[in-house]
Parts: sequence; structure tokens; C-alpha cells
Amino acid sequence: MSKVLIIGCGGVASVAIHKCCQKSDVFEEICIASRTKSKCDALKEKLQDQTQTRITTEQVNADHVEEVKALIRKIEPDLVMNIALPYQDLTIMEACLACGVSYMDTANYEPEDIQEPIWRAAYEKRCKEAGFSAYFDYSWQWAYRERFEKAGLTALLGSGFDPGVTQVFCAYAQKHLLDTIDTIDILDCNGGDHGYPFATNFNPEINLREVSAPGSYWEEGRWVEIPAMSIHREYDFDQVGRKDMYLLHHEEIESLAKNIPNVRRIRFFMTFGQSYLTHMKCLENVGLLSTEPILYEGHSIVPIQFLKALLPDPASLGPRTVGKTNIGCIFTGKKDGQEKSVYIYNVCDHQECYREVGSQAISYTTGVPAMIGAMMMLTEKWKKPGVFTPEEFDPDPFMDALNQYGLPWKIQENPVLVD
Ligand code: NDP
Repeated sequence: MSKVLIIGCGGVASVAIHKCCQKSDVFEEICIASRTKSKCDALKEKLQDQTQTRITTEQVNADHVEEVKALIRKIEPDLVMNIALPYQDLTIMEACLACGVSYMDTANYEPEDIQEPIWRAAYEKRCKEAGFSAYFDYSWQWAYRERFEKAGLTALLGSGFDPGVTQVFCAYAQKHLLDTIDTIDILDCNGGDHGYPFATNFNPEINLREVSAPGSYWEEGRWVEIPAMSIHREYDFDQVGRKDMYLLHHEEIESLAKNIPNVRRIRFFMTFGQSYLTHMKCLENVGLLSTEPILYEGHSIVPIQFLKALLPDPASLGPRTVGKTNIGCIFTGKKDGQEKSVYIYNVCDHQECYREVGSQAISYTTGVPAMIGAMMMLTEKWKKPGVFTPEEFDPDPFMDALNQYGLPWKIQENPVLVD
């Protein structure tokens, strides 16, 4: 029986909160706190009569450590779930350390304004050291390892689907299916259609920053960096069909390269339709993906934030989105001395998600693992002092929970491999 503070009340948080409310024996009490309190109140109103979980709400600006500390001291939670934006990861981790509470999130830290000189310098130094130039990486949060360890607290990073479940799939393959893993291809396919000419399925700013960054993959002990969207493949996905997919940099490659012994290559592919790519290229060409503030009629505006205000809110896509997602990992390696390949994946239907929790499948496939990650921590199935990614824990209870809470997975032997 636990009390949890959930920061953020957007598309992903809303699913996680619905799911926490289905598991009231673990989530006895939750406090939903976000920048816009009215969203928290509306969700509380919707859920409180259908659940045994006691729900309270608060307003917080999680950019400010002192505000988060004051809130944690007021609520006294057993765990803080950060489902706001990656920009808030470090302030919330600081507050958790100061108040002696464990922490989890769904995406790794990225500085909001990469152009600000102090961030720019740190970013450039880190790019040089890490060997790739995406905005987001684990180094900022791994820097907290010793402090969490000393405080006897756990921080679980990236408990969404990818990152998150994909790393649990890797730990499961390592534990049960293969003696050694040679290659991992993570395939993220969204076969959904929302009917808009252009919209993103989760926070537009974070999404567009991710897909417009250079791609990179891990091979033979080093990063190989490529121009954005320059490696293209086609794949025939179970229950979705044939889709174009492109190689992206993705955060879990970084932790898996460290945690899966002797892995030779790790790549991440995401599907995009031609129309999405054409829109994105056009927005990039006219400068609307820029994070650098510009002066417009005397006001400073950040182009990508202005674009976010124009695009449909991802949380509003639920009723319109039809089709399925298919996300998983293809492994090659050896078992009992023999070459073996396996594919572990989940297929999720947008409309089924909408019927259950009022959200499309991208928020659902992220919000459910956020709830499961929190449940693993609160029930002490995943507990050790320090800062960890999901593949560093026992995958079995998490895999069972995926089957139980709406994201059942399949294993296919000898799948078609990506060349
Ligand atoms: P949304 O933009 O829908 O929601 C973000 C929420 O955080 C909003 O409620 C917003 O409040 C709140 N918020 C933003 N800034 C602050 C702040 N300074 N203080 C307090 N609250 C704040 O985003 P999503 O739900 O789509 O995404 C949530 C997270 O999930 C992101 O970190 C995203 O990267 C991650 N994600 C992870 C995936 C995975 O598979 N691992 C996949 C998809 C997303 P307000 O309403 O005022 O704007």
C-alpha cells in the first residue's frame, strides 16, 4: 500500500493514472501535480468514482527544485513518478534526493534550450565524449548514480515502451532465450491513422527534436553517426503490414551497449509515412523546428514551441486514431552453440486503448509501462540503491505484468531479419 506523487498530466500521464487506479491495492493514494492544475482536477473528477485509489491534485512548476521539494514534503510520497517532460528530469531528481524519495521517469533528460551558452558548452563536450550528437542521452542522469546510491534510493530511468519495455525484452532474451546476443534491432511501428495531414503522437516538441536529430547506431564498440533519415528499410509487421522505417538515434541503445555483454550491433528503426517526412522536412526548411528563440513583433518566441501550439494536442487524437502499433526487438545470437534469432513484440490497437482509457496507443504503450515500473518499485521487486535502466532488473515480473495490464507480448522464432 503506497502513496505516489505523479508529476505531469498530459497524454502519457493520463494513461498511467488510469492504470494506477485499476491497481488500488498498490496505488492506495496518488497525488496528480502539474503546471496546469485544471487538467489534474478534470482527471480526478473522471476517475474518483470508479476507483478505490484516493486521488488529490496540486499545482507545481517542476522547473523549480524548491517548488518540487515543498510539494514532496507536503505529500510525503513513497515514490515520485515524473511523467512531465524530459526537461524536468534533473530538477525532480534533485528534489527527490533532498527529500529522501525514490524516482522514476519515462524519457531521459534533455536541456530545453540547447542554445543557452552553459548548456551549449555541456552539450558540445558531451557529444565529443559520447560520439553522437542527439540532444538526449543518459550522461546527465547517470551523473546522479553515486548520490542515489549513498542515499539508499532507487531511480528508474525511461520506463515507457521505447525506452522501457524494449530494454525489458532485451533482459528477457538474455535471461531465457539466448546465451549470447550478437545483434539487436528495435523496431517501432505505428500503423495508426488519425486523419490529420500532420500531427505527432506524443509531445510535438520532444517528438520532432528526436526525429530531426542525426541518426546513430552502435557497432563493434563504437557509435556510427549518419544524417537524419538517411538509412531506410522496409519491414512487414505482424497485424500492420509493410511499412517504411528509418534508423534513428534512441536512448536505450546507449544503456544496452553497456549492459548487454559483447553485443556487436544495436540499431533502432521507426516507421514514418512519406507525408509525415515531407511535412517535417518543410517545417525544418522554414525554420519551425528550431529551438533558438527569435524576436517576433517585440516578443521572444521559440519556433518549435510556436509550432507545438499550432499542432493538434496528442491527447486529442484518441477518438480519431485507427489501426495498430507493433513495437519490439529482433535478436540474433547463439543458444547451446547454435545460431538463433528471435523477435519479441507487442501489438496494440488504437481504438481498444481509446475504449479502455480514452487515449490512443502511443500514450497507452508508454503509460502502461510507467505504471508497471512504479509497481515494480513499490512492491520492491525492483529495488536497489542507485540510478538504473530497466534492463538492469529482473525482467520476469515486468513481463508478467505486461501480459496482465494490457500489453501482451509474443515471441516469434526465426523472424525475417533487417539487412
Ligand atoms: P504532454 O505534453 O502531453 O504532457 C506533458 C505534461 O507535463 C503536461 O501535463 C504538462 O503541463 C506537464 N508539464 C510540462 N512542463 C511542466 C513543468 N515545468 N512543471 C510541471 N508540469 C509540467 O507529453 P506526453 O504525455 O506526450 O509525454 C510525457 C513524457 O513521456 C515525455 O517525457 C515524453 O518524452 C515521454 N514519452 C516516452 C515514451 C517512451 O516510450 N519511453 C514515448 C512517448 C513519450 P501543461 O498541461 O501545463 O502543459
